[in-house]
Amino acid sequence: MTSTQKDYMTVSAVLRRCHQCGKPQDQAIKMMRCSRCASVVYCSRECQKGAWPVHKPSCRPVDEANPERILKNVEVSLYGFRTVDEFSQALRDFIEAHTWAFQSYAKAHIFMEGGTDYIHTPPKLMEVQLRCLCTPGGSRDPARTFSFLGHQWRTVAEYTSKPVGARNWARSAAMREAAHQYNSGDPRFAGMLPVLFAVEDISSWQTSLYPQYRPYYASPQEGLSEVTFKSLMVDVLALCSSSIEHGLALRCADGQESIAALPGRFVRSNKLWKWEPLFTDWDRYLAGPRGIEGVDALLRVIRTLHVTVPQLLQIIRVIS
Ligand SMILES: [Zn+2]
Ligand SMILES: [Zn+2]
Repeated sequence: MTSTQKDYMTVSAVLRRCHQCGKPQDQAIKMMRCSRCASVVYCSRECQKGAWPVHKPSCRPVDEANPERILKNVEVSLYGFRTVDEFSQALRDFIEAHTWAFQSYAKAHIFMEGGTDYIHTPPKLMEVQLRCLCTPGGSRDPARTFSFLGHQWRTVAEYTSKPVGARNWARSAAMREAAHQYNSGDPRFAGMLPVLFAVEDISSWQTSLYPQYRPYYASPQEGLSEVTFKSLMVDVLALCSSSIEHGLALRCADGQESIAALPGRFVRSNKLWKWEPLFTDWDRYLAGPRGIEGVDALLRVIRTLHVTVPQLLQIIRVIS
């Protein structure tokens, strides 16, 4: 596994990171928010300065009198958010909480469509549909704020044919280019997949870029029959969706021994949400007595014979 590969599957236990260097937020570092758009945080002035050329095109100043913003504030107030910024932060936290599941979900779908060429011919983006589960005064556990409804593939041509899409696409061009540059040293790098997170009845969304790699093998299913490979991918998809539905954040944390992602929950301490695994050894959990509701629900979604959840979690990690 290359270092880039490890970086993208391994994350820190803390939710928020510096937008430039990726340093996780902790008690020692007071993060500063971009004062113009309030939508990204940095660990230092240096990082803020360094990020500016790439951040600038997508940095939209907060204008409280903007009619569009006023409408957005009204939309999200029904779900208990004071402002659209508070909603956007909850959405970013949710995407980050389930980043392993969303990245694996995208990867499995790309394999089922025949491989990484699919995202380029013609250029596509994945639109993930979510529903907001927040209520005024309710819990804001970052892994449980939304429900996952599914996805649809959209071509970039179709997306940019509408003015809003064209505007957003242009604004994120510098970000896509920087991400591309950052990953292009890896010979297996096959491009960035833009993933658009849209929320039912709410007009604010978020975009993430997921790097895609060509598999080590000539074909991803080498050594496996196509039927077996497809059914493994179906299981991966079911596992990802189910973990998101149960608010069970699968993660590979820094320093974790298990190569397979572990299920965990977010705990709040000192104003920070921090991920904690529910256990550290899949084999020991499988040996019994089990009994953690969300985890047992995950175990039931696997349909492929002779494959266990930890094996499946390893397959998706090493397959590309
Ligand atoms: Zn930084
Ligand atoms: Zn900004």
